[in-house]
Amino acid sequence: MSQITSKLQIATTTDEVRRTVRAAQAAGETVGFVPTMGALHEGHLSLVDASEAQCDRTVVSIFVNPTQFGPNEDRDRYPRTLEKDCEMLADRGCWLVFAPTDAEVYPPDHETFVEVGKSAEPLEGQIRPGHFRGVATVVLKLFQMVPADRAFFGRKDYQQSLVVQKMATDFNLPIEIVVCPTIRESDGLAMSSRNAYLTPTERQQAANLWKSLMLAESLYQSGERNTEIISEHMRELLAQAGIDQIDYIAFVAEGTVDPVDHITGRTVVAIAARVGQARLIDNHTIG
Ligand code: AMP
Repeated sequence: MSQITSKLQIATTTDEVRRTVRAAQAAGETVGFVPTMGALHEGHLSLVDASEAQCDRTVVSIFVNPTQFGPNEDRDRYPRTLEKDCEMLADRGCWLVFAPTDAEVYPPDHETFVEVGKSAEPLEGQIRPGHFRGVATVVLKLFQMVPADRAFFGRKDYQQSLVVQKMATDFNLPIEIVVCPTIRESDGLAMSSRNAYLTPTERQQAANLWKSLMLAESLYQSGERNTEIISEHMRELLAQAGIDQIDYIAFVAEGTVDPVDHITGRTVVAIAARVGQARLIDNHTIG
């Protein structure tokens, strides 16, 4: 195990990380866990802050999980900034980083995967077949490697948080799942490692995803309840901003992926669109 600063340690093997976490727990400490793919930003760091506030120790994993990327997706160019990530984590008071190799997580003879259910079918699941199978598998594996007491996930990946919560319930996992709010840039764009793909012009354009979610909010506030009509207005706003590659604009009942035609209760508006080389997702709850 290597030591980056007087505080932050880096583990690369399952044995190291598991032994270190268990030793802290045996000494009566609670351990929080923040799984990430690295290229850290304030969104990730807000999860670290939440863990620090609720647990005695925080472990962050940095692993670009190959099994959640489709064949034509951005796995190869996904930003990898381990050294800078560790500096940010050390500054934030993080205790331990787990940065395994691909072979540590998926040895060549690895063959077992989690079969996800209904909450993984629509939205991201439809556009990215196999994505949540990969996510659920790596999260379950990471939970075995890092036997923490609580794990922290971001609301930005709304459907992912549902799939993970469902898996934790269905598999009786002895870990508490905590979902934390989305952290945004000053113009509302949700922070994302993939924002690094945007050119300055595209970066300006990308803020319109949030503007379209705010438009949904204001239409709702003025009494509109028909989600098809709200969706049409959002598409118009995005088209005017030059965003025409929209994977979906969906309205689902809070805490589910069940579609909503007419808003009567808390409803999540979820959006996925391509801006330049980046595929961006965001969501906002109305009602
Ligand atoms: P990723 O590295 O993109 O796999 O994200 C790791 C964790 O950080 C996931 O639980 C994400 O939902 C969460 N996350 C990513 N971006 C944000 C954000 N802008 N605000 C809050 N959480 C985020």
